[in-house]
Amino acid sequence: MIFNVAGLLSGTLGDSRQHKIENEQLMVEDRLLTHINGPIHLIRTDRTVILDADITAVTQAICSRCLEVATVNINVQMNEEFYPLNIDLMDQFYGIETHDNFYDDPALIIDKQNFLDLTKGLGQALIAAIPIAPLCKDECLGLCAICAVNRNLIDCSCPQIRSDLHWKSLDKLLDKGAESPS
Ligand SMILES: [Zn+2]
Ligand SMILES: [Zn+2]
Repeated sequence: MIFNVAGLLSGTLGDSRQHKIENEQLMVEDRLLTHINGPIHLIRTDRTVILDADITAVTQAICSRCLEVATVNINVQMNEEFYPLNIDLMDQFYGIETHDNFYDDPALIIDKQNFLDLTKGLGQALIAAIPIAPLCKDECLGLCAICAVNRNLIDCSCPQIRSDLHWKSLDKLLDKGAESPS
């Protein structure tokens, strides 16, 4: 996830490059992100490189309903501006100004060898995109509130407050109500 942008920096305003991340993986804060994929579009501005990316990834998280390990799909759209440390290549635009204030975020720097390292910024963005309440599947039945079994695995016979049966009988009652003359 490191791109050499020397060619882009020594080019002209509006130059662009298309890259791709294919099946990469990353370890961020003890969390493994796998199957990282997506297109990267780089555009040169007068003094920066703008990165547009649409990235998908996969990670493991605990399902918020059944508490089993769940495979979670993540998607992030990144739109970030990267600042080159090597101002020589962009001299014609920089002049003699200094731009130390641009370099506050080390994740958004193009180093002196003209490498744009997306690893840190993308890792942070993917971690932030993990849902707060992940699900192993949309229709996860969760744990039984009475006997605590995983209801995806075991059909315990505890009366579920919101079971299908409950709704069916309610529907019947409503149907009857609609049919009966007022
Ligand atoms: Zn679940
Ligand atoms: Zn139960």
